[in-house]
Amino acid sequence: MKPIRVLQWGLGAMGSGMTRLILEKSGLQIVAAVDSRTDYAGKDLGEVLKLDRSLGVTVTSNPDSVLNKERVDIVVIATTSWLSEQMHDLKKIIQAGINCISIAEEMSDPYAQNPELAAQLDVLCKANQVTLLGTGVNPGFVLDLLVVMLSGGSHTVERIEASRVNDLSPYGPTVMKSQGVGITPAAFKAGIEDGSIVGHVGFPESIHMISDALGLGVDRIEQAREPIISNVYRETPHVKVQPGMVAGCAHTGIGYRGDKEVIRLIHPQQIHPQLEGQDTGDYIHIFGKPEINMAIKPEIAGGIATMGLAVNMIPHVVAATAGLKRMIDLPAPAALMGETAYRRQV
Ligand code: NAD
Repeated sequence: MKPIRVLQWGLGAMGSGMTRLILEKSGLQIVAAVDSRTDYAGKDLGEVLKLDRSLGVTVTSNPDSVLNKERVDIVVIATTSWLSEQMHDLKKIIQAGINCISIAEEMSDPYAQNPELAAQLDVLCKANQVTLLGTGVNPGFVLDLLVVMLSGGSHTVERIEASRVNDLSPYGPTVMKSQGVGITPAAFKAGIEDGSIVGHVGFPESIHMISDALGLGVDRIEQAREPIISNVYRETPHVKVQPGMVAGCAHTGIGYRGDKEVIRLIHPQQIHPQLEGQDTGDYIHIFGKPEINMAIKPEIAGGIATMGLAVNMIPHVVAATAGLKRMIDLPAPAALMGETAYRRQV
């Protein structure tokens, strides 16, 4: 089997983890790496990844020098959450005639909030005969694809309620800021109003994807973000939370068809939830025939699963027809544990 040749674009927490995973897979080969960090440029990828060996791949900050479809089968890009910020890079990749997987949250279903950009990307992919997919743990898997797949045997679905309760403690200062951790409830309210606190990115995408897959006809999405106020002292290497301060953000997204609520997604994210007796987990409840209740405890580990999904989808994207795809458009993801995993085609 000829390995699929991968260019990793973005070598941060996710991108470097994906690269390490790709190095473990016999069906995949890392052939190039791009990152805008000037301290990475010119170094061997093995050194940037802190491996004890050289990989013979030099990291570059100039994508034009490595975007060659004769040498690269697919780009995996892990740089930002926002489609408008990634649009320029995505166009460059597609116009070079190379397939792409992005973990930008807004790319999981770009039709949800950016239909014009999505249409542009789809046309460009088809003109260049390549496939573009957005994926990740959430959006991209837990609160959308998994919900869709669980409904696979249902006769009817009245409404869906799903939640992901997780622990933010392993994350760095950027996440603490965007979730409002360590500030007063008043500062949290101000942060929501000025847009500096965003909570989870991806509810419109997940709700749109579920609604489209099942034909639930969601025509309106509302979101609410509330502070999780701590009753106890909590601390991580990046933040200290006194009692009365904010330990996280409880974010809810609701999809309506007319006046009827059909999809409710709940994502309370905080540091050290166990200090107040809160277990973590992923929960999906489908009301209909039959009623379905799924609980995964603790939650599927976010970083590990995002790396896994991006890497495991590589063969499917390479084999797919041209165009912009979502996780509901391609074969179900599966761990790449052996040769047959690389040959599942639609
Ligand atoms: P990070 O900040 O650790 O890494 C980003 C890397 O990309 C950095 O090394 C940076 O130098 C590089 N970079 C940024 N813009 C670039 C550009 N235009 N060209 C080249 N390099 C560029 O972030 P991360 O934790 O690796 O996550 C990456 C993105 O993926 C984040 O926006 C995050 O929110 C998102 N994400 C999505 C999911 C999901 O479930 N869909 C899960 C995890 C992360």
